[in-house]
Amino acid sequence: MPLHVSGHPLVQHKLGLLRRRDTPPWTFRPLTRELTLLLLYEATADLSLWTERVETPLEVAEVSVLSQRVGLAPILRAGLGMLEAALELLPTADVRHLGIYRDHVTLLPVEYYSRLQGMPAADVYLVLDPMLATGQSAVAAVDMLKRWGASRVKFVGVIGAPEGIDVLRRAHPDLEIYLAAQDRQLNEKGYILPGLGDAGDRQFRT
Ligand code: URA
Repeated sequence: MPLHVSGHPLVQHKLGLLRRRDTPPWTFRPLTRELTLLLLYEATADLSLWTERVETPLEVAEVSVLSQRVGLAPILRAGLGMLEAALELLPTADVRHLGIYRDHVTLLPVEYYSRLQGMPAADVYLVLDPMLATGQSAVAAVDMLKRWGASRVKFVGVIGAPEGIDVLRRAHPDLEIYLAAQDRQLNEKGYILPGLGDAGDRQFRT
């Protein structure tokens, strides 16, 4: 399944601002929101439509209506900044927060929160996490959604490391990945280089 790295000039310009160490949280958050809107535009380009007839003030017109339901699965906590933007575009989305943190010693994912009861309500779930670093949290998130019964899942992030992209694609070859950039590598602590630092800390001023 393809890896989509956006070549859009607005995406690349905003990503450059996001990377700067002197970009404060109150600028980082709106940039994350704007990047998410642009990335979601690309990640939702294949949603299917059906046709309905509506009355305009002048006559009857055939209009398009989304025929697929979309779900959003932000990985806590950095994915929260992407969720707000995603809900502006997809206000009726089914939202499933996934609490997964990376153990700083082992770098392995630890699941601590999910509410995946009942049947999946959406036809496609978008996992939201700005940083695809080791790939372990993303794999865990997609595992959780698939175990629950989600039939189609996509990953939407801002920056991916080659190592994480590889891990995610090996674990879930059917998954489509949408990113603003693929960076050079991970460092020994699992941070993406050149990256932008800790996306959660930078959004929430931790
Ligand atoms: N998570 C982040 O927020 N930044 C990284 O560079 C890697 C993981």
